[in-house]
Parts: sequence; C-alpha cells; structure tokens
Amino acid sequence: MLAIEDVHVYYGAIHALQGISFQVNQGEIVTLIGSNGAGKSTSLKTISGLLRPKQGKIRFNGEELTGMPAQKIVGRGISQVPEGRRIFANMTVSENLDMGAYLRKDKPEIKKDLERIFAIFPRLRERKGQVAGTLSGGEQQMLAMGRALMSKPQLMLLDEPSMGLSPLLVKQIFDIIKDINAQGTTILLVEQNARMALSVATRAYVLETGKITLGGMAQELAASEDVRKAYLGA
Ligand code: ATP
Repeated sequence: MLAIEDVHVYYGAIHALQGISFQVNQGEIVTLIGSNGAGKSTSLKTISGLLRPKQGKIRFNGEELTGMPAQKIVGRGISQVPEGRRIFANMTVSENLDMGAYLRKDKPEIKKDLERIFAIFPRLRERKGQVAGTLSGGEQQMLAMGRALMSKPQLMLLDEPSMGLSPLLVKQIFDIIKDINAQGTTILLVEQNARMALSVATRAYVLETGKITLGGMAQELAASEDVRKAYLGA
C-alpha cells in the first residue's frame, strides 16, 4: 500500500532522515519506534506532504506522492493525527469533526461516519457542543483521531498518541487503535512507548538517528534482546 524508498530529508544542514526505506501493507498496523530525535515525526510529516524529501520516493497504491501537496495527499486517502493533537481549540467538538470531512462531498456517508466515530468515542458525542480547547488531554487525543477518521482514510498516520496520557488512558487509546484497524483502516504508528506500540502492531521498524536499523514482526522485535535493552527497559 505504502512504499518509502531511500528517503532523505534535511532541516537546513541537519540530515534528519538518511535514506530510510520501509513498507506498509493493507490491513496492517506498522509501528516506527525510536528514541527522541530519531526522526519518527519527520517520517510521518514527509509521508503526509508537510515536508519534502531531497531524495527518494514515496508511493501509495502505486501512485507517486513525492512532492504532492498535503491536501491532495489527504484526498488520496492518507490522514495524519499530529503529535500534540493540534485540534482547533476555539471550535466545538462537532466543528472539529466537520473540518476533518472538508474535502468530502458525500453528505449521507459523512453522516454515517460521524455516527461510527461517536460509537467509537462515546465521550465525543457527550461533549459535541463543548469548545475543544477545554477538553482533557485524552479527550483531545480522541478528537484528533476522530477528526482524522472523518476524511475516511485508507491509511491513518498516528504520531505519539500516548503522549501525556495516564497509563489507563493509554491502554484505552491503544484498544481503540486496534478497533479502528479491525474496522478496515491501515495504521502507521509512531511511538516512544515501544512496549504499547509493539503490543498492537503487526510489524515494526526501529529508527535510530535518521536510519532504520531493524525491522520485523512486532512480536519478534519485542522478544529481541537488543530491542528489550534499548527500548523496553528490560
Ligand atoms: P520525538 O520523539 O522527540 O518527537 P522524533 O523521532 O519524532 O523525536 P523528529 O521530530 O523527527 O524526531 O526529529 C528528527 C531530528 O530533526 C531531530 O534531531 C530534530 O532536532 C530535528 N528537527 C526536527 N524538526 C526540526 C526543525 N523544524 N528544524 C530543525 N531541526 C528539526
């Protein structure tokens, strides 16, 4: 579904991604794990078109995305849930969700999807008239995910969904990620919480200072001595 080939990204003189290659197949949850500054967010921003690679190719369903504007990429079926949520703080929950569907014209389908999202996140239904900036951290994460789902993505890019949440909420959010995947959305997940990420993922890659150093089935990586020492605190 998604193929990243030898992608290089720079911030000025900083060579943030140094030739990364990986794939995401339809139906999978794939996770990129790695420590602070490894290039996880940069990878997602490059796929969603917010950053442009200096070299390399990104293909989605056989079509080349490299250099395509971010809005067009959303139209192709890729939606990002950014780090730190970035919801529209002054708008209500409902208005935020509507924004997620701004490229769609299939009104009856949009209504159905809104119902589906309220079924996944009952908390959002209860609070649909509330100004989003006053939601709790966990609720804001749910809203950011709900908004991304409103574009009806084939592939959802999730940047650090566990950030700043209590262990109980992290568990809830990861259960929801599994549900969303089971309902047909392919997921690329970036996480510092490697333990949680590996527990839900099909496959995983380890990113270290702009390079992919390891890749494989998530369960195998979770069992590997190197990964346990470096990322699972074992
Ligand atoms: P974290 O988990 O801490 O968010 P990350 O793996 O997502 O880390 P990135 O945010 O992708 O890491 O950053 C990769 C590298 O690029 C880091 O060295 C970072 O300092 C640098 N970088 C990121 N954004 C910028 C920017 N706007 N300008 C300059 N350098 C940047």
